[in-house]
Amino acid sequence: MERIVVEPPKPGIKLVEGSEPARGREEFLVETLEVGIDGTDLEIVRGEYGTPPTGEDYLTLGHEALGRVLEVPGKGGLQAGDLVNPTVRRGCGLCVPCKTGQSDFCFTGLFKERGIKGLHGFMSPLFVETEEYLVRVPPDIREVAILTEPASVAVKAVNQVLKIQERMPWREEKSLGEKKALVAGAGSLGLMATFLLRSLEAEVITMDRSPDDCRKSELIEAMGAHHLNSMEVDPLELAKDFDGFDIILEATGAARVPFHLTRALATNGIMVLLGVPGRRVSVEVEASEIVKDMVLENQVVFGCVNSNATHFREAHKYLKTFLERYPRELKEVLSHRYPWREFENAFEERGKDVIKRVLVWQED
Ligand SMILES: [Zn+2]
Repeated sequence: MERIVVEPPKPGIKLVEGSEPARGREEFLVETLEVGIDGTDLEIVRGEYGTPPTGEDYLTLGHEALGRVLEVPGKGGLQAGDLVNPTVRRGCGLCVPCKTGQSDFCFTGLFKERGIKGLHGFMSPLFVETEEYLVRVPPDIREVAILTEPASVAVKAVNQVLKIQERMPWREEKSLGEKKALVAGAGSLGLMATFLLRSLEAEVITMDRSPDDCRKSELIEAMGAHHLNSMEVDPLELAKDFDGFDIILEATGAARVPFHLTRALATNGIMVLLGVPGRRVSVEVEASEIVKDMVLENQVVFGCVNSNATHFREAHKYLKTFLERYPRELKEVLSHRYPWREFENAFEERGKDVIKRVLVWQED
């Protein structure tokens, strides 16, 4: 069985031959249909990140997957033929969050992540997994189900924002109508956050460095959000016109950006940090002004990582909503599909119209 691997910390990506996965007593055998490529994969291929399983040289890449169940153990709710999205993180087995299916909040840091940290990923024709980490995909969202993982991270982030905003002495409604939201970074996570916030009726500005005449910018505008080219317009200047943003989702991974954007927060505003800086950098900030604003305006800045099966299930419901409300825009996110043997082209693909790259093992 051929699998697409990296050998961290060496940069590069290649194909190696390996044995087929042996299904354990409680495991399901799943055939891979599609695997998405995101920024974390690109970092791993550059050698900046990633850990192979203990005692092995290679890490099979890929953590965003759609598969179909081939073989089932004696018990379990999933049936052969079911479409599934595997989750990414596997709990440490020691802490309370991990023991209760919420390894995204692992206390010990001893968790593993498929395709990222200590466990093989999904860029191979077959994989095995226990039911706890396989989420059944409703067949009517098959076409966009490869977006479930980034959508689930956006779902967790927005849920956490709403939960924290329950601190307000009045009730914050689930609808975000009239709330102004800024999404910084328009990778697949930023775009899923844009769809989600739009479907909750927020006024959304999504910024990245793309020019205004690219496909990504067009689809952001088409769903009723606004695209901001951060190379040309500073969001702080923009925020001055309307007392700041109530919600900021920061997903650029640039260390400087969150400090800059705190100044664009509204009174009682909240910023969730989702991007992880790849390089070690120091930045000079106006510390006194940032702290003063945060205190005097009741602001919150918090970090949020990963997602669990509950968020995957919720993401499926949202993807269905997105498909109903923004069908063309959602499908356009999946801009570049490649037969998996062309993985090198997929990873090398550049250009302003690349939004999401997907490797395909099997078409329906
Ligand atoms: Zn844990």
